[in-house]
Amino acid sequence: MDSVDTVVIGAGVVGLAVARELAQRGREVLILEGATAIGTGTSSRNSEVLHAGLYYPSGSLKALLCVRGRERLYAYCAEHGIGHRRCGKLIAATDDAQLGALRALQAQALANGVDDVQWLSAAQARALEPQVHALAALLSPSTGIVDSHALMLSLLGDAEAAGAMLALASPVLSARVGEGGIELQVGGEQPMTLLARRVVNAAGHGAPALAARIDGLAPQHVPRAWACKGHYFSLRGRSPFSRLVYPMHNSAGLGVHLTLDLGGQARFGPDTEWLDNADPATFDYRVDESRIPAFETAIRHYWPALPDGALTPAYTGIRPKISGPGQPAADFRIDAAAQHGVPGLVNLFGIESPGLTACLALAEHAAEQLEKL
Ligand SMILES: Cc1cc2nc3c(=O)[nH]c(=O)nc-3n(C[C@H](O)[C@H](O)[C@H](O)COP(=O)(O)OP(=O)(O)OC[C@H]3O[C@@H](n4cnc5c(N)ncnc54)[C@H](O)[C@@H]3O)c2cc1C
Repeated sequence: MDSVDTVVIGAGVVGLAVARELAQRGREVLILEGATAIGTGTSSRNSEVLHAGLYYPSGSLKALLCVRGRERLYAYCAEHGIGHRRCGKLIAATDDAQLGALRALQAQALANGVDDVQWLSAAQARALEPQVHALAALLSPSTGIVDSHALMLSLLGDAEAAGAMLALASPVLSARVGEGGIELQVGGEQPMTLLARRVVNAAGHGAPALAARIDGLAPQHVPRAWACKGHYFSLRGRSPFSRLVYPMHNSAGLGVHLTLDLGGQARFGPDTEWLDNADPATFDYRVDESRIPAFETAIRHYWPALPDGALTPAYTGIRPKISGPGQPAADFRIDAAAQHGVPGLVNLFGIESPGLTACLALAEHAAEQLEKL
């Protein structure tokens, strides 16, 4: 049986960041990716926003790794010539009932160490973005946007330069915890069994199902997977905004917001639609155009001048959740031996937003857990 020191399962932005981190720490790393290309999952179906870290409960992994990961990612993008822009964002309270929640969000941001958020009056918000409607708004100057595809290529390049290898079309089907490590059954055109001393399960939507197929990992350490779809629609013509504009958030997501790409094109999304089946093999990524009227209504709360017929279908993404409808949003789970008792195994569960922003910090955290073997 072939053996390798460390296998990273999944070549999304998180798996690639983990592989880079481990390879640069001197580990022999093999990345096993089920698809025929890197980054075809959630990592290429998101808002591409570098989040400041305002929303998450203080002390949570989401808060810590978002704030730490954001500054590391800005520095990384600058060093490696990856397209990004610290454009800032406004969060708009559009009725009186939202003003208290806006104050609470400002306090939460401060508690998370995000100390540059400014409270704006309606007039101050309009001075920055003349078309925005807000009774008051928060300005987050450290929010930005990034070219996620260039980022993934760069992370892979770094990992390979440090000796990591990537095997595409190599889905991990199941595993068994044994004496000498973890035995992986790998499918694809040339199925094989591989012995790894260390395994990082960064399979995104596939992570819980794969963990459930690890013989030797007790079932109580595998969370239930949920999937929540979000649509995006692009704006025809030029964006009247130069910053991102967000409504107040809700329990499932951040609300239908306006993001910009690096070319200045505006798009709106994502909305929230809980799916009955969280198995990625069943996912339907098609855009449902019948959602346009609901988008127009949501957008006009903060941009009343949105013209009729200005939205055009863009794409969808599906959030890999481990908390269901009506439940409080779960934190990231980075489960290592201390949690599940299997030496050398790290499972990454529920890596939804802000996973892109946090990828470098997530990788560092996962690597540290793995070193505790
Ligand atoms: C609608 C939406 C908007 C978002 N917006 C933002 C944002 O603006 N900012 C932000 O920071 N974050 C955002 N996120 C979150 C961010 O996109 C994710 O946290 C991040 O992309 C997760 O990366 P990943 O590598 O864990 O997962 P993925 O990109 O899904 O990668 C997992 C990989 O594992 C592979 N795989 C699965 N099973 C197996 C197997 N058995 N064997 C081998 N390979 C396997 C898959 O093919 C896939 O390539 C958003 C997410 C969504 C859904």
